[in-house]
Amino acid sequence: MKLGDLEFHIVSDGHVLLDGGAMFGVVPRPLWEKKMPPDARNRITLSMNCLVIWAGGKRIVVETGAGDKMSPKLRDIYGLDGPFLLGGLRALDLRPEDIDIVINTHLHFDHCGGNTRIEQDQLVPTFPNARYFVQAGELDHAIRPNERDRGSYFQENFAPVGAAEKLTPLEGEHTVVPGVELIRVPGHTAHMQCVKLTGGGQTAFFFADLVPTTAHLPLPWIMGYDLFPMTTLENKKRWIPEAIREGWIALFAHDPYVPAAYLRSRDGNWEAEPLRVT
Ligand SMILES: [Zn+2]
Repeated sequence: MKLGDLEFHIVSDGHVLLDGGAMFGVVPRPLWEKKMPPDARNRITLSMNCLVIWAGGKRIVVETGAGDKMSPKLRDIYGLDGPFLLGGLRALDLRPEDIDIVINTHLHFDHCGGNTRIEQDQLVPTFPNARYFVQAGELDHAIRPNERDRGSYFQENFAPVGAAEKLTPLEGEHTVVPGVELIRVPGHTAHMQCVKLTGGGQTAFFFADLVPTTAHLPLPWIMGYDLFPMTTLENKKRWIPEAIREGWIALFAHDPYVPAAYLRSRDGNWEAEPLRVT
């Protein structure tokens, strides 16, 4: 897709299977199972959608999926399968060393697992020439997670990037290159950031885990994982109407069927009008 001079592709790091109840919080199963049918282990199929962006002379990756370092037991629990991010990059004629910038919206394992890889028994940054951007508060929390969310944070995904001095913690809004803006949007975690792409008079907004799939558009459909669900609610009330009003392209981090859509308001409901993208 092109927004003026900015070009981006959506590349999946494959699927992750997560508990349907946890994904929909207070929404009863009879409602969510119609949109996302669970398997025998009550898991629903989600995609880990990453972005590859060419902007301002830089090659940028947003999110790195779950990566390939997880144990066979965890791979089974989360149903991790391909195709993977690095294969998607190869299809775009990009090698890991070609990437200049990596953006993590937050540091849950399904958003940053591909940040690092194992090379000769050592954990190293997957993208050796890249600077990695994350909110400072998110990094602090990831280093010392609480009892409720420590299962989502794996030090191996970000500590080696810090040790290699390639990690830049941010304090709030940040323009990575002209047309690629990071905006702190708390709720899912205290310091999650969304990514706003602008060019040629158009805008695309990566909702990260504020609205992970199109099924999460209705206001009360908020993940049970969220640390601050009322803040998520406030931010949904702010950002979804803005995306509708301004005609933004909405990009969804976890939707397996609709990674990109225009949002519409119809009879008081918010709907996604899927967009065909590569
Ligand atoms: Zn998350």
